[in-house]
Amino acid sequence: MTAIFISDLHLCASRPEILRSFLGFLDGPAREADTLCVLGDLFEYWIGDDDLGDPFNASVASAFASCAQAGTEILLTHGNRDFLLGEKFAQAANVRLISDPHLMTLDGTATLLMHGDTLCTDDRDYQRFREEIRAPAWRERFLFKPLTERKSEVEALRRKSETEKKKKTQELMDVNSSAVAIALRAHGYPRLIHGHTHRPARHEHLVDGKSCERWVLGDWYDSGSYLRCDERGLKSIKLS
Ligand code: MN
Repeated sequence: MTAIFISDLHLCASRPEILRSFLGFLDGPAREADTLCVLGDLFEYWIGDDDLGDPFNASVASAFASCAQAGTEILLTHGNRDFLLGEKFAQAANVRLISDPHLMTLDGTATLLMHGDTLCTDDRDYQRFREEIRAPAWRERFLFKPLTERKSEVEALRRKSETEKKKKTQELMDVNSSAVAIALRAHGYPRLIHGHTHRPARHEHLVDGKSCERWVLGDWYDSGSYLRCDERGLKSIKLS
């Protein structure tokens, strides 16, 4: 079985070259895989499934749908930017929304999939903010607003977050190793794949005497990349 993993594409209409590269990826490498897992932040932001009428969003959904039609199973987890992706999008794109974390077995190895933001526990301000916007009441109130109002609210939030990020250190925004250990322990070890931090790498962790590995996916800002897992193992691949 071949599974491939991507995250943090941050697709938006203002970066058409990333969309092009993503469409090429869905037509190429993704079709050769049995399963494609999108581990969050596919979109720069998602303000609700009623925004599927937007041609940019519709083109992403239909590209997923043709890839799924061609035989690739597509699993999608929410990121911090697109946690409002819902069942309507999932149906239009023919993808399956999975929980975060999600446990998967790859060639006999238990593999935990996460977006990764919940592992960044040192950043308490972010975790507080996350809790606030994930509350059902916030969601309901937000989705009730007109699309244009939602869009400008999200853009204001993004600007605020960019300013705040400049004040934070890389260490503060990276994953916390105890949070990694807790996640691996809770799901039976030994492998974790996540995105969010935009610091692609393979890390080794010793958790309760067990050697574990953690693969961090890269973002698609400069060029696309994916992690491929088959019977020969895992390999990170850059798109040209
Ligand atoms: Mn993220």
